[in-house]
Amino acid sequence: MTDTLQTQIPSLPDGVSFAYRGDALYCEDLPVSELASRYGTPLYVYGQKAIQTAYQEYDQAFGEHPHSIMYSVKANSNLAIVNLLARLGAGFDVVSGGELLRVIAAGAEPSRVVFSGVGKTDAEITLALQKGIRCFNIESIPELEQIASIARKLGRRAPVSVRVNPNVDAKTHPYISTGLRNNKFGVAYEQTLSLYRHAAALPEIEVTGIDCHIGSQITELSPFEDAGEKILDLIAKLAEEGIALRHIDFGGGLGVRYKDETPPSRKAFIETLLGMLERRGMSRLDCLIEPGRSIVANAGILVCSVIRDKTGETKNFAVVDAAMNDMGRPMFYQAWMGVVPVKIRRGDSRCYDVVGPICESGDWLARQRMLCIRQGDLLAVTSAGAYGMSMSSNYNTRPRAAEVLVSGEQAFCIREREKPEDLWRLEHIPQP
Ligand SMILES: *Cc1c(COP(=O)(O)O)cnc(C)c1O
Repeated sequence: MTDTLQTQIPSLPDGVSFAYRGDALYCEDLPVSELASRYGTPLYVYGQKAIQTAYQEYDQAFGEHPHSIMYSVKANSNLAIVNLLARLGAGFDVVSGGELLRVIAAGAEPSRVVFSGVGKTDAEITLALQKGIRCFNIESIPELEQIASIARKLGRRAPVSVRVNPNVDAKTHPYISTGLRNNKFGVAYEQTLSLYRHAAALPEIEVTGIDCHIGSQITELSPFEDAGEKILDLIAKLAEEGIALRHIDFGGGLGVRYKDETPPSRKAFIETLLGMLERRGMSRLDCLIEPGRSIVANAGILVCSVIRDKTGETKNFAVVDAAMNDMGRPMFYQAWMGVVPVKIRRGDSRCYDVVGPICESGDWLARQRMLCIRQGDLLAVTSAGAYGMSMSSNYNTRPRAAEVLVSGEQAFCIREREKPEDLWRLEHIPQP
């Protein structure tokens, strides 16, 4: 192959923090190869500017409309990232007591936290009430009863918003679709009104809003519109009965570009939501969103090195030092992740499956990619900032990767690489 270097530059899904300078991949003003030699691999690298830009695009799109951007912590829950977003003014959507404590440890105000999830335990509800969160997004009638009874015991009033299952098709992967009748999430649309009547009559409950979250990696606006209109119908019916809501939470779920998807812009997404409110004369409602992926996915890469070039007769494998325990999306959702060289090599490309060293055939990161590589080369898995590190595990007793946050020419280690002995610290051998 005699391609010029120019035509060999792989495309990157988002140019805010990551770009090639010549043949070298940079995160902001630092060469990724330098970060890999300083911190080792596998290594998560995040660009601060990409996170800030994503947050600010949302924030600015709301203009003067009262709003809160509740970052969904499970997408990437590193303290430094939560802290960065808290300083930018974000609130947080948490789905466990652990996430609530994490957000507080990162310096965020509990009063800016909403708590979602179908299985909140007594201990989690108690914790959230004691800390004084903004509201519970409740997902069933028994949950409402449980929260009311705990609030009664603690002598507090519990702020609640009902997560409605609007029964719309988010047109995304079934595992990340949450707004269909047969999903476990939310209160069935038909039960919502009676649940609100019941909630409004309970003295320990303060009804504050309504909420829906229909899925993730949604790349069209129509599912948000379908769900939004149904929720607005409910708000109108509740108002007729004298139940006035203060906020509407449209959830998260806006998709990002991994390969060639063309999701709506953050601005277009917000304009659609505000347009719906305006048409119904509901512009006084405080508008919440719970984005996760669309803030951090393209702000991160996972850097790994090629351990072995296992070229065979029928198939070539690039065995790398990152695996399904570091990045589970390909295995969980058959997700396509970009894989690009950290330093572009001139020469013939071959078709590879990029796989990790774990003893599972599901341990792959990318399939059938044209790459020109040698043993020891660095590769970057792109769009790895969301549902990467936060879904990682220690399977095969693999210490988890380090994480680095880059701002301009500064790199900061925001999570140290685990050591093997960290992994059995909590284990005990019974004495015979
Ligand atoms: C996961 C989740 C989100 C975030 O979804 P993204 O697709 O990452 O934006 C928002 N709200 C709830 C309730 C969630 O479970």
